[in-house]
Amino acid sequence: MPNNKRFYQLSSFPRESKDSRYLADGLINCVGKPVETSYFSAMSCIFCQIADGKKPAKVFFEDAQIIVFADILPRAPVHLLVCPKKHYASLLDLPEELLLKLHETIRKIATELSIKDNFRLIVNNGAAAGQIVEHLHFHFISNARGVKLKLSE
Ligand code: AMP
Ligand code: ZN
Repeated sequence: MPNNKRFYQLSSFPRESKDSRYLADGLINCVGKPVETSYFSAMSCIFCQIADGKKPAKVFFEDAQIIVFADILPRAPVHLLVCPKKHYASLLDLPEELLLKLHETIRKIATELSIKDNFRLIVNNGAAAGQIVEHLHFHFISNARGVKLKLSE
């Protein structure tokens, strides 16, 4: 495993946690091996699996670092999720260069859909703020009608 990533040992996690990421970490650590968190979050995190192409999604855009796909329960005529492919639970963990890339992507989406002056961005950061999927994502939402979204599938 590469040296520049963070590794955790079982002892650093609460054993009774219901968080599936912790459970995945715990399982592997039972055999006494160190765990790379990004690897195990990818095993259990739905957005990591989408980013990896292991779970289906209606993808609007992707490159090496970013994926944009339709929210499964859209709350508006346009409801996309803009995510870094790499797992970050919190906006505050995101490296600045990736924040810039996300901004660039948001600009591209708004421009391509011709809704530069009609969209909202929402980040629910933390469970108390309503974050359900623990993989950073920006909700890109617009009430604009008649927008043609070219999605995969
Ligand atoms: P949040 O409350 O900010 O964590 O929002 C999570 C969003 O992810 C919700 O709007 C869900 O509808 C959406 N969502 C959950 N699972 C999927 C999925 N498999 N594909 C697309 N969107 C999803
Ligand atoms: Zn993830």
